[in-house]
Amino acid sequence: MLPIVALVGRPNVGKSTLFNRLLRKSRAITHDMPGVTRDRIYGECQMNDVKFDLVDTGGMVLESEATPELSKDFEDEIFEQAREAIEEANAIIFVVDGKEGLTPLDQQAAEYVRRSGKPVMMLVNKVDGSEFSAAMTSDFHIMGLDLLPVSAAHGYNLSEVRKRVRQFVVELNLPEEVDDGIERGLRLTMLGRPNAGKSSIINAIIGQDRLIVSDVAGTTRDSIDVTFEKKNKRYTFVDTAGVRRRANIQDHLEKISVIRALKNSKRSDVTILTIDITLGVGRQDKRLIEFLAKEKTPFIVVVNKADLVPRNETNQALDAFRRELRIIPHVPIVMTSAQKGVGIGKLLPMAEAMRKECEIRIGTGILNRSLQAVLEKQQPPVVKRKRPKFFYVTQADEPIPTFVFFCNDHTLVKSAYARYLENQFRKMLGIKTAPVNVVFRSSH
Ligand code: GDP
Ligand code: GDP
Repeated sequence: MLPIVALVGRPNVGKSTLFNRLLRKSRAITHDMPGVTRDRIYGECQMNDVKFDLVDTGGMVLESEATPELSKDFEDEIFEQAREAIEEANAIIFVVDGKEGLTPLDQQAAEYVRRSGKPVMMLVNKVDGSEFSAAMTSDFHIMGLDLLPVSAAHGYNLSEVRKRVRQFVVELNLPEEVDDGIERGLRLTMLGRPNAGKSSIINAIIGQDRLIVSDVAGTTRDSIDVTFEKKNKRYTFVDTAGVRRRANIQDHLEKISVIRALKNSKRSDVTILTIDITLGVGRQDKRLIEFLAKEKTPFIVVVNKADLVPRNETNQALDAFRRELRIIPHVPIVMTSAQKGVGIGKLLPMAEAMRKECEIRIGTGILNRSLQAVLEKQQPPVVKRKRPKFFYVTQADEPIPTFVFFCNDHTLVKSAYARYLENQFRKMLGIKTAPVNVVFRSSH
C-alpha cells in the first residue's frame, strides 16, 4: 500500500489544477480515448524513486444521500470532504489562495488539519511569478506551517514543489507493508453503502459466520485482509475492517469512504459493488460506478436482498440496474440473497473468469489481422474531410487488456468508432466482462 497524500483546502484555491500538474508526468498510458478527459480525484504519483497516492478532495461530494437538507450548508459539506480526506490520509498538502489571502474558511480548515496531528505542508497557490512571492505569502506565515509559493496554472516554482513533496513523503517514513509470506490468491474488494449486505455476502461465501466480527470498535488493526480457501483455491477479501467501519458509527451521514474504497479496489483483482435491491442505485453508488468505469476497474455489480422483492418484479429491477450501467455494458450484474444463499455461488467463478480475461495476452499477428477484419467491415468515418488511417495495433503491458492503435492522426478517431473498435475486439478476442482500454496514437 502506498502512502496517501491528500490535497485539502477550500474550493477554488486550485487543488484540482495542482492535482493534474503533480500527476501529469506519472502516468505511462494516458486515456486519450475521446470522452475520458474528466478530472480524476485519485491517482498514483511518482517523483523519482518515490511513489504515493494523491487524493484531490475538490471534486468529491460526500454529503448524505438520506438527508440532503444537511448538504445545503455548503461550508459543512466542504468540511465533510476535508474531514474524510484527512482521516484517510497519511499526510496533507494544505492549499491556500495567495491572490485572495487568508480567509476565515482557511483558518477553520487549518484547524481541522492541525487537530488530525498528521504531517502537513502548505502551498500558497496562484503566486504567478517570483515577483509576487513575498507579498502574497506574508498573510499565511501566521498559521505556523511550512509554506511554499506555487502557481499551479502557470508553473511557477513547480519543480521546487515536486522536490519538497517528494521529500515530505520520504520523511513520513511509513513502514512498508509486511509480507507475511501467505499466498493471497485472487484479491477481492467489497464496495457499497452501509447495510447493502457486504459482510453478509462475505460470510455467505466463506461459510463461517465467525470470520468477520460485526463489531470492530475494539480492533486495533486498521485493515484486515481475510484469506480463505474454496475448492483448493485461495482468495482474499481486502480490508474487511473497511467493510464494517462506517456502518457501526452512529452517524447520520452514513457514507462510503470513497478514498479508502478506491484504494482497496486498486489493490485487488476484482471489485464487487453491492447494492440493496430495495434502495436501488443511489448517488454514491453512481459516483462509485463512475469512478470504477473511469479507472477501468474490473468489477461486478451485486444486487442483493433479492428475497425482499416479489419474484415477478425482479426482472424489472434488473432492467433498471442495467440502464444505470449502460455506458459499461460488459459489467456483469448478479442478483443475490445473502440471507437465503441465492446467487452467492456465482461470485467467485465470475471473479476468476474476469481475472483470466484481464491476463489475456495477444500476439501482434492476431491483433493486426483482427484490425484488418474490423476495418473492412466498417471504415472509420471521415472527420474534417480526412479519414483516420490505421497502421497497426499492439497490446500494451498493462494490468487490463490495453490495445494501442497507431494511426495517422488520433484526433480523427471519434468516440463512436472507438467504441466500435472496442466491441469488435472484445468479440473476436473473447473478452466479455473485463474492462478493455483502447488507446490511439498518432505516428508518422
Ligand atoms: P479547486 O476547487 O481547489 O480544485 O480549484 P481549481 O483547481 O478548480 O481552480 C480554481 C480556479 O483557480 C480555476 O479557475 C483555475 O484556473 C484557477 N487557478 C488554479 N491555479 C491557479 C494559479 O496558479 N494561478 C492563477 N492565476 N489561477 C489559478
Ligand atoms: P454491510 O453493512 O454492507 O456489511 O451489510 P450487512 O451484511 O451487515 O447487512 C445489513 C443488514 O441487511 C443486516 O441486517 C443483514 O442481515 C441484512 N441482509 C444482508 N443481506 C440480506 C439479504 O440478502 N436479504 C435480506 N432480507 N437481508 C439481508
